[in-house]
Amino acid sequence: MENNNNPWKRSLNELKTIGEKISLNVMLFSVLKAPDRIVEVSLPLKMDNGEIKIFKGFRVQHNNILGPYKGGIRYHKNVNLDEIKALAFWMTMKNALIDVPFGGGKGGIKVDPKTLSEGELEKLTRLFTKRIKDVIGPHKDVPAPDVNTNSKIMAWIADEYSKLNGKDALAVVTGKPVEKGGSEGRKEATGMGGMYALAAALKKLEFDKKNPTVAVSGFGNVGRYIASFLQSNGFKIVAVSDSKGGIYIPDGISDIENLEKYKESKGFLAGCYCVGSVCDINNREKRGGKDISPKELLELPVDILIPAALENVITKENADKIQAKIVFEMANGPTTLEADEILSKKGITVIPDILANSGGVAVSYFEWYQNLHNEKWSKDEVFKKLKQKMEKAVDNVFETSKKFKVTLREASYILALKKIESVWGNKKD
Ligand code: NAD
Repeated sequence: MENNNNPWKRSLNELKTIGEKISLNVMLFSVLKAPDRIVEVSLPLKMDNGEIKIFKGFRVQHNNILGPYKGGIRYHKNVNLDEIKALAFWMTMKNALIDVPFGGGKGGIKVDPKTLSEGELEKLTRLFTKRIKDVIGPHKDVPAPDVNTNSKIMAWIADEYSKLNGKDALAVVTGKPVEKGGSEGRKEATGMGGMYALAAALKKLEFDKKNPTVAVSGFGNVGRYIASFLQSNGFKIVAVSDSKGGIYIPDGISDIENLEKYKESKGFLAGCYCVGSVCDINNREKRGGKDISPKELLELPVDILIPAALENVITKENADKIQAKIVFEMANGPTTLEADEILSKKGITVIPDILANSGGVAVSYFEWYQNLHNEKWSKDEVFKKLKQKMEKAVDNVFETSKKFKVTLREASYILALKKIESVWGNKKD
């Protein structure tokens, strides 16, 4: 992996730059420079055809000054330790910024889950849970869904962990199905939180164009919900993509929900041009649409670009070609360091991942809290609390950016590090 695109190197750079700017305590700087613990496990799995395959799993616990480690579990063929370390570091920062009592962690298995049967996926998940059971727990480390994992997988983890411990421990993971101890609104939380944050940020930026145009890269849990919520709130979604391809309709995609149904039945988005409830490639000309690649989507002439897939999609190779006025990072780490500088020079406002997508962990905290206190909140209650959290974080970030004359990303790190430093200062001997 090219050094500058290595997300862990990038995290260390962020820590160093901001640490120096705010004269962060040198001992705390050293504490945050490396994860508290890295667990790497081997997962030998008997496949349905009798063959044995060995997968590799990771759980990285970056820091727990603010509370139990917290962060998702990702299943992807490119999962590697430096990626998981960076994601865990960003969770430490994000949890401090959105003000939930958690530290940061992340995990993953290097596997393409699309090549596994449902039974193999369940066996692999239960085996991973067994291997990491001693380091996770409601008050130790609380995983959640991330790329290619979902509520069903979280339910398997909760079930396996509870069996191994001989008692129900719902709060060991968040993002469970509602009927199995999950919170109302968790499924949609990252997208909904993103919508609240974007609306608040646009007000601060005095961006009051009617029906701003939006392109969304990635159409999984995060991408599809933010696209759908933004569309319901007057934004014009003109392009969406997944890993296989995308569609561009300058007049606006008519119905995100139809698109979701199509993707669920076909497994991809390409060619989904909807007229009424009929979505088909034959409607492309009628809708004035164009097939685009995931890369092309990033360079479209839109007001707002939302990367909602994986890291390192905006790089020094394409940053100059980005035409959006605002990049709203719903994915973790979509912009490389050099690309960030190019965007900044071009006057493009980047609203950083640790702010934009923090609605997911905010509602994960609500779920954990409900589990521990045996409470059940309504979806309205959850979204009301989520909106308050997102708007407060946006306020704080814009204020800090103004005060220190720094970018929104730098302001977010300043706030996160100062919060951790204040708690650490009170805790240490
Ligand atoms: P997901 O697995 O549900 O969806 C990922 C989507 O990205 C899929 O549609 C996939 O086809 C698409 N994709 C992959 N490579 C692509 C490419 N090169 N171009 C365009 N699309 C591509 O994952 P998710 O949960 O939606 O997570 C997406 C991002 O959001 C990740 O960075 C994740 O860490 C971050 N995030 C997720 C949550 C959450 O609650 N799920 C919370 C915070 C942040």
